[in-house]
Amino acid sequence: MKSTPIDFIKKSDTQIILSNTFHLLIQPKPHVVFQLGGLHKFMNWDGPILTDSGGYQLFSMAYGTVSNEIKRKNNTSVNESVKKKKKNVKIREHNSTNICITDTITSKDKNSFSDNKNSFSNNKNSFSEDKNNFSEDKNNFSEDKNNFSEDKNNFSEDKKKISKKKMDINNTTVTDDDDNDIKNINNKIIIKINEEGAVYKSYYDGSTNVLTPELSIQSQYLLGSDLIVVLDECTPYNVSKEYTEKSMHRSHRWYIRCLSEFYKINHMLNYNNYLYKLYNKTCKSDIKWDVLVKKKKQALYGIIQGGIYEDLRKKSCDFVCSLPFFGICIGGSLGVNKEMMYSVINDTMNYLSQNIENKTKKKKRPIHLLGIGKIKDIFYGVKQGIDTFDCVIPTRLARHGYFLCNVQTIQNIEKILCRNVNNEYIKIKLNIFKTDSKPLETCCSCYTCTNYTRAYLHHLYKINDNLLGTLLTVHNVSYMNRLMKEIRVGIKNETLDQVEQKWTKQ
Ligand SMILES: [Zn+2]
Repeated sequence: MKSTPIDFIKKSDTQIILSNTFHLLIQPKPHVVFQLGGLHKFMNWDGPILTDSGGYQLFSMAYGTVSNEIKRKNNTSVNESVKKKKKNVKIREHNSTNICITDTITSKDKNSFSDNKNSFSNNKNSFSEDKNNFSEDKNNFSEDKNNFSEDKNNFSEDKKKISKKKMDINNTTVTDDDDNDIKNINNKIIIKINEEGAVYKSYYDGSTNVLTPELSIQSQYLLGSDLIVVLDECTPYNVSKEYTEKSMHRSHRWYIRCLSEFYKINHMLNYNNYLYKLYNKTCKSDIKWDVLVKKKKQALYGIIQGGIYEDLRKKSCDFVCSLPFFGICIGGSLGVNKEMMYSVINDTMNYLSQNIENKTKKKKRPIHLLGIGKIKDIFYGVKQGIDTFDCVIPTRLARHGYFLCNVQTIQNIEKILCRNVNNEYIKIKLNIFKTDSKPLETCCSCYTCTNYTRAYLHHLYKINDNLLGTLLTVHNVSYMNRLMKEIRVGIKNETLDQVEQKWTKQ
């Protein structure tokens, strides 16, 4: 939720926010947030927070262009032999009643989310996905290309600030990387991946750190988020099946270590003191942690891996479902295009439902699809039975001058432009908005649409005013929250197809 006051987020009907552990590990660091009273207090958000493990950002930054593949960008290096057969997609009854999404997603009643397995969702940064979106808009592509690599640029800028300061919170030494056989890895970010974890270099101060399963869980504990996620290796699409399998098993072993740390959090009486002793070797603190923050109940999600391979997905489903996770995420590479993505989701959901049917005694667990947030994909996922999603699209689009809009608005704009618009969003830069005194969307009651015209927002774009990003974020977040609200009503009233027709161009 960059550049947007939390009050606007609240008033946009946002229910849950996702925070990225990796960026918080870089700065200000989880133990600092802990000493300031936790993430909720730190950013003045009293609703639920989902944090990721820190792994996704790390691996997607490290894999660089390969990470595009995770987001289904076409790649010429695709190995034909691993192309999956296209399968008929079965529409399954949805189990959820409460889904929402934003760059930051939420559930209104903080107390109810743990009881109501369906309420929340998250968001993850992926500059690669936005790259894909923007590249669809050919007219603006070259201009916007620079924006999409925002994170990358930040990285290289920040590299200059490198200090000699070195910190290794766990004093963990990683010595072997014999199984690190991924090509194209950006070793300026990830130095090694092995059984212990991932050794990476901070883009902020150049220090070398290790992200281990234990550290990921400890960090999420220190941040005080409500929903937390296990550490996994997010492999790109173009790695071999052999590596995907090896990596999947290693991620599975990491999950056991995550659960073990999570068990400590919940059952160790002096856990704060234990962490204090552990962290104080490197992070001096005058405040005793055992009296600082009361332990709060957190809920842990496991992640299904297995890439695009059906048999591996099944193995991972069986493994993850056998463990006592509160919820289940679908992660890893989903292929290079929509067909593959839908096929992987379909397979995974089939295995998941088999697991659920086989173990009817077990409570039904919420299912989250990691990093997916295009409106068409959300409808596909919802129909498959996925409860929550996360994606950076609404807020990142906003910061780059795009506003999300419904089919009717797009059709009206197409008439004026005399060309097709193949996206779910429009750029405010277009000259047609120069003298347009309508709001972004007449049917939208968000702060931006209530108070500003397209012409004014177009003007902000022209003068490069940061307020534009804020105002478009408010609109896009409201838009997504409205979409998810209508989806929930559609599920309840069994009118999901009609809702889909309203929100997506057929
Ligand atoms: Zn609006």
